[in-house]
Amino acid sequence: NSGISLFTIVDDVNFRSMAKIAQGASIILDCTDNLYTRFLINDYARKNGIPWVHAGAIQRQANVMAVTPETPCFACTFAHPAGLPTCDTGGIVASASVIAAALQAAEALKILIGTFEGQKLYALSLEDNTLRSVTTAHNQKCPACRGRYDYLSGKKEPKAITCQCSGLYHFYQHGIELEALKEKLSALGEVRGSHGYLIFDNISAFANGRINVRAASLAQAKSAIAKYVGA
Ligand SMILES: [Zn+2]
Repeated sequence: NSGISLFTIVDDVNFRSMAKIAQGASIILDCTDNLYTRFLINDYARKNGIPWVHAGAIQRQANVMAVTPETPCFACTFAHPAGLPTCDTGGIVASASVIAAALQAAEALKILIGTFEGQKLYALSLEDNTLRSVTTAHNQKCPACRGRYDYLSGKKEPKAITCQCSGLYHFYQHGIELEALKEKLSALGEVRGSHGYLIFDNISAFANGRINVRAASLAQAKSAIAKYVGA
């Protein structure tokens, strides 16, 4: 499609960056790998009256659900439990994410051209190759639908979020000085990166204060932060 313009943003989606990243969007597609970010998108979309389409896959299962200002929201249907299987512990069959993405794009197109007829939660199982469509309902106790945006306000921001893939730990450090950090780390080894971010060993740091550390445990990640970035 020659009419499409693409632009990319290298950033971490969190309550500080959400508005900047999604600014001006007519629709948001969830291609994320963790529940925290989905609840954050839900808060932002709810507050600003923007439709979005959730898609998620794990093992041989996938879910797709379009959310518009008129439908129940993501938080009406989904809770935020801990200890779910992750793509590390459970793995993903690639076909599940491919089908989820195709359904997600189809739902997005319907919303954009005005033929969307209402929300269903589409639940795919590649164990028996079934696609169920589940009827959803407004949850009277849903915080987001009652105007309480705990994710967008930062109230639900975890100090360290364990990303659900490959032992990636996220931190936030207010007032990080990337240039100074780059100079400090360059003395120790190769620092890569470009405007707005740097990569050193197992650490990626962003100008907005987000620091991602790949480590075997939270303790190791914190130790790397203390060692190379400074707490
Ligand atoms: Zn809701």
